[in-house]
Amino acid sequence: MEFSSKLLENAVYEVSQLPGIGKRTALRLVLHLLKQPEEQTELLANALLKLRTEVNFCKNCFNISDTELCEICANPKRDETLVCVVEDIRDVMAIENTSQYNGLYHVLGGKISPMEGVGPQDLNIIPLISKVREGHIKELIFALSSTMEGDTTNFYIFRQLEGMNVATSTIARGIAVGDELEYADEVTLGRSILNRVPFENSIKAN
Ligand SMILES: [Zn+2]
Repeated sequence: MEFSSKLLENAVYEVSQLPGIGKRTALRLVLHLLKQPEEQTELLANALLKLRTEVNFCKNCFNISDTELCEICANPKRDETLVCVVEDIRDVMAIENTSQYNGLYHVLGGKISPMEGVGPQDLNIIPLISKVREGHIKELIFALSSTMEGDTTNFYIFRQLEGMNVATSTIARGIAVGDELEYADEVTLGRSILNRVPFENSIKAN
């Protein structure tokens, strides 16, 4: 792509670094911003910068939060004995949208993936095991996507829990294999949480 301006080229390059955005889309977005009032670009840039510099993760569940404890963890009406283990924040949002779940979450920050060089130590697994060891949690619900990486991660955590007094379950696999949680519709996802099955059964079934 030939650019008439170095400034334009730089802006397009930076926008095209975002996932799913090619050079053409980046150019369209940048030209769109140029047509808007200058304040619009300022608002966008400031919101991103502020998010990046001030972002905070809930110290209990690792959800993105503006406060030390996120709104979910700080809500006394939520069931603290039930913890849903998810890959990322989008899964928390998806499950919250179903209004079918009243427990807490634990955001791992990814899945174990040897292919992508992500090991257990790169995820929030140790804090999860420590939390379970404290003894207040009665059930962990694995809600990772049904991919090989998701299964590997579930199984790794399951093994770490050996000998601890906690029930483990997995959301019903009504969701097609390979589907990401965030794409499941709310009704299906809500039903999957209500119809969760003991984790041991899911291993036997595989
Ligand atoms: Zn939290």
